Amino acid sequence: MLNKTIIKVHDRDNVAIAIHDIPMGTEVESGIIANQDIPQGHKIALCDIEKGEKIRRYGVVLGYALQDIKMGDWINEYKIELPSLPSLDDMKYGTNLVTDLPEAPLKTFEGYRNPDGGYAGIRNILGITTTVQCVTGILNVAVQKMKKELLPKYPNVDDIVPINHAYGCGVAIHAPEAKTPIRALRNLIRHPNFGGEIMVVSLGCEKLTVDMLLDDDENNAENVIVLQEKSGFQDMIASLMNMADQKLKRLNSRKRETLPLSKLCIGMQCGGSDAFSGITANPSAGYAADLLVQSGATVLFSEVTEVRDGVHLLAERCVNRTVGKKLADEMKWYDRYLEIGGVDRSANPTPGNKKGGLSNIVEKAMGSIAKSGRSPIVEVLSPAERPTKHGLIYAATPASDMVCGPCQLASGISLQVFMTGRGTPYGLAAAPVIKVSSRNDLKDMWNDLIDLTAGDIVTGHATIQEIGTKLFHMIVDTASGVYKPWAEVYGLHNDLCIFNPAPIT
Ligand code: CA
Repeated sequence: MLNKTIIKVHDRDNVAIAIHDIPMGTEVESGIIANQDIPQGHKIALCDIEKGEKIRRYGVVLGYALQDIKMGDWINEYKIELPSLPSLDDMKYGTNLVTDLPEAPLKTFEGYRNPDGGYAGIRNILGITTTVQCVTGILNVAVQKMKKELLPKYPNVDDIVPINHAYGCGVAIHAPEAKTPIRALRNLIRHPNFGGEIMVVSLGCEKLTVDMLLDDDENNAENVIVLQEKSGFQDMIASLMNMADQKLKRLNSRKRETLPLSKLCIGMQCGGSDAFSGITANPSAGYAADLLVQSGATVLFSEVTEVRDGVHLLAERCVNRTVGKKLADEMKWYDRYLEIGGVDRSANPTPGNKKGGLSNIVEKAMGSIAKSGRSPIVEVLSPAERPTKHGLIYAATPASDMVCGPCQLASGISLQVFMTGRGTPYGLAAAPVIKVSSRNDLKDMWNDLIDLTAGDIVTGHATIQEIGTKLFHMIVDTASGVYKPWAEVYGLHNDLCIFNPAPIT
């Protein structure tokens, strides 16, 4: 399994991955000599493969050889034909419900209990939600002033975060699919890190009206500011400052307390993946996910196009037919969504993924699924839906980092674990993001951006279990406020792209 220059995942594989750049002429294994230079992370043929024959990695068929391939040849995306999409109509459900999962090393953390009794917060943040982007300019000026003049008065509050977005007006608000962005914003207002404090800023003439986001008893002058009702800039800023002051006062009285890990809900996603992601960072995250699930916590994983080619493997792990059926329905919805746009799942991977050795979406999917560990899947969510169960949950979202992030936030994750091979400085303002690299080279280069490297797994200096356990502790320490991931230290925050599959008008 382990070699100095290449790594083979499964006995049946006829390709292996270059651990480092391999120069032409290198003997990578007894009798196998590299016929070309093979870049790090890319595949080398372990035997002759005839045109039309299967190319296997992870023990699965990545695709079919588009030409005769010689032993020792470099195999990239140009040499593999994508196999047909797995059918969603004859999947087996609940046939692989694993019970021999690892014991969690601890069962509690220090978090902020929330008034709704749901998932706990792990940061104490004033979240200010907007109904439309027209108010963003005013709100951003006000938030700068709040951070300078108000935040220092309330030392128990970590931050003030505006939920700015491009939805709200100029959109087909009654289109059937408008339910997704509206649900996302409704749920973002109630994010566990926001402590139950509601603050909404509206313009006054937009299509997304406040009553679509708030219940009647919440929709009042204590929680909502309508800019068109204010007499100019100064009045707007004064009103925003005044409301924020009231909210911050209440948030400041929140205290961390020891809570069971069943009060923790976290998300996993990957971005800028490479061929190592699926054998180092993602399976380590999967092991951490198994430990979290065993401790009672809830773990979300997502990214439809990156699980679509391995969906039958997820179906087998669904606890019952109802959960499995919802999994199939979410996949069907996405197949259609892509079809309407005139593309298919081959629109993923990215050029960077391919440079990192991921030839096609099947290879990417097999690596991506590894982050879900082995636990049974107890629930499947539509984009931005809130969970009703505890355990491992598949939350259907686009794979785009900037869209998956807000969807998972809306579903209630209080932190996100982010695996990367190529490297990205991605971060979220409303929740800390822990960055795990698939390669040591990336950690060496980005030592002050990557929180944990899983690269030692490739070289044999660490096991998936060891890195996974390290990650579990880093997640719990982050949740307890003991550890701050780099993205949080520097305040690296991406814009929130609210998933809107409905038409823009
Ligand atoms: Ca992603």
